[in-house]
Amino acid sequence: MEQIHFLSFGSGSSGNCYFVGNAEYGFFIDAGISPRKVKAELKKYQIQLKNILGLFVTHSHYDHTKYVSSWGEKYGIPVFSTEKVHLGIDSNPMIARKLSASKKYIAHSEKSIIKDFEIECFHVPHDTHDCVGYSFQLRNKRLTIITDLGAVCDIAKEHIRKANYLILEANYDEMMLRNGIYPSYLKRRVLSNLGHLSNEQTAKCLVENWHNNLDAVFLCHLSGENNSPKLAYETIFNELSKNNIQPKLLFPLERKTPSDLYIFE
Ligand SMILES: [Zn+2]
Ligand SMILES: [Zn+2]
Repeated sequence: MEQIHFLSFGSGSSGNCYFVGNAEYGFFIDAGISPRKVKAELKKYQIQLKNILGLFVTHSHYDHTKYVSSWGEKYGIPVFSTEKVHLGIDSNPMIARKLSASKKYIAHSEKSIIKDFEIECFHVPHDTHDCVGYSFQLRNKRLTIITDLGAVCDIAKEHIRKANYLILEANYDEMMLRNGIYPSYLKRRVLSNLGHLSNEQTAKCLVENWHNNLDAVFLCHLSGENNSPKLAYETIFNELSKNNIQPKLLFPLERKTPSDLYIFE
């Protein structure tokens, strides 16, 4: 009950979905992985769908929202996000079935309390209507998820400095992207301040905001084309080492393979 549990069902441009909770209940973050696959993982860990108390959406891009209506309208899970993210979901032509009864609004920096969790969202820069990170606090421990951001803004830094467990984007290796097959407009988009974080940017951000209570760091939203789990891990681990930082747990989340269920002591 006192420990935060975390599980990734998949992470990256082919689909994102995470579980955060405790031994009794929890929440989904993003809805980009099929319910069939998610339910199979939940079953492995005896987590029942009726104990999923909410789905928190970071932004309206399809890799985060593909199955939002299934979870919301078919399975009756309340779908929380800001007004602008909901507007983005409503106007996303790829999402055929719209949210109605399941739609729930939250605002930046406003705390939502659901049972023992205090949940906060905050804006991060990305090329969409709105994009938010989330912090989940249980007792005195805090898990923070920050994905899809082109630059590390002050509010994100603030949340990283308060996090015990952090899920942070490390999307691409800059050289791989620049020399890769993406068309130049897409390279510009990814590299921009409204695109994604590179391994190098994530490493720098971690060095600058590191603190002793940061017990676990998961790297998320790795590009299949311009990155690899090994490269992301090594780039970031080496930069931390250079600055005399020894992470207790640093782990790159796989794009298509679910992670283990982590239970933080
Ligand atoms: Zn994404
Ligand atoms: Zn995005």
